[in-house]
Amino acid sequence: AAKSGGRNRVVRFSPEMQDGAQKRRALSDDLHGALQRGEFSLHYQPIIDFADGRATKAEALLRWRHPQRGAIPPLDFIPLLEETGLIHEVGEWVFDEAAAQAERLARRLGRTVQISVNMSAVQFAAHGAGAIDWGAKLAALPPPDGRLGIEITESVLIEDQQRVKDCLLDFRRHGIAVSIDDFGTGFSSLSYLKTFSIDFLKIDASFTRGVANDENDHALTEAIIVMAHKLGFRTVAEGVETAQQADILQRMGCDFAQGYLFSRPLPADEFEAYLLASDG
Ligand code: C2E
Ligand code: MG
Ligand code: MG
Ligand code: MG
Repeated sequence: AAKSGGRNRVVRFSPEMQDGAQKRRALSDDLHGALQRGEFSLHYQPIIDFADGRATKAEALLRWRHPQRGAIPPLDFIPLLEETGLIHEVGEWVFDEAAAQAERLARRLGRTVQISVNMSAVQFAAHGAGAIDWGAKLAALPPPDGRLGIEITESVLIEDQQRVKDCLLDFRRHGIAVSIDDFGTGFSSLSYLKTFSIDFLKIDASFTRGVANDENDHALTEAIIVMAHKLGFRTVAEGVETAQQADILQRMGCDFAQGYLFSRPLPADEFEAYLLASDG
């Protein structure tokens, strides 16, 4: 039976619930309290340094296990977290969880693995119910010593220029690396690259996909890497699935690679095992 309203009601999904809006509403209701019920977890995807082939970085990716429907893809529920404002508390949990994991890994491995978390535009809002005071949070944070990063898409940069600029500066001042995610797919102009503080450009998987067999993707990827280096940024290729793609990217001078070729996103314990095994 479908439901309406009431965040405390159990939502059941019926086959006739085909209407997208209805399904979204039901999912959205179920997101309330999901954090408190422990339904969220983070998976970690290794990011490989082309210089030595080691996983020196990782991306934290949010996972939601719905009690009835199982794993829900982030692209289905993150927009709902944003609409409901729940993204603030969930995003803060993601940040804290990744920070704790990075600290744990540093102790267990005796080396630094930089873990980056994705941040939506909404999360930078200064006002509104549940908004996080990142300035205060960062000030109270033990020095992350290179263990933390954030990833934002170009769309974040067109929201509230000055506010975002200040926020990014603040993150970097606290030693947190800033990556531009899905680079090359947004609608923003390139001029932001000279006004915002940025450490990494993540080359979108759509370019990586064609790097071995599409002339245009090949040319664009090469040009992005050259441009990034001239501006003092390092590059991460996303969605690397074949050894051929990795070869080409490495020859182009790309700095880091992430993708199924190396590893899928892993639960925390498997991620630690992966690192221990690869450290030898
Ligand atoms: P993203 O930040 O660009 O993350 C990369 C996505 O590509 C992940 O999808 C990852 O699992 C997938 N991926 C990695 N390697 C490969 C590959 O070789 N081939 C293919 N086909 N895919 C690959 P995922 O985990 O489904 O996340 C989707 C998006 O959801 C992320 O894209 C990010 O925008 C968003 N997201 C995930 N976690 C969070 C979070 O904690 N907060 C926010 N605000 N957004 C998040
Ligand atoms: Mg990302
Ligand atoms: Mg991306
Ligand atoms: Mg993406």
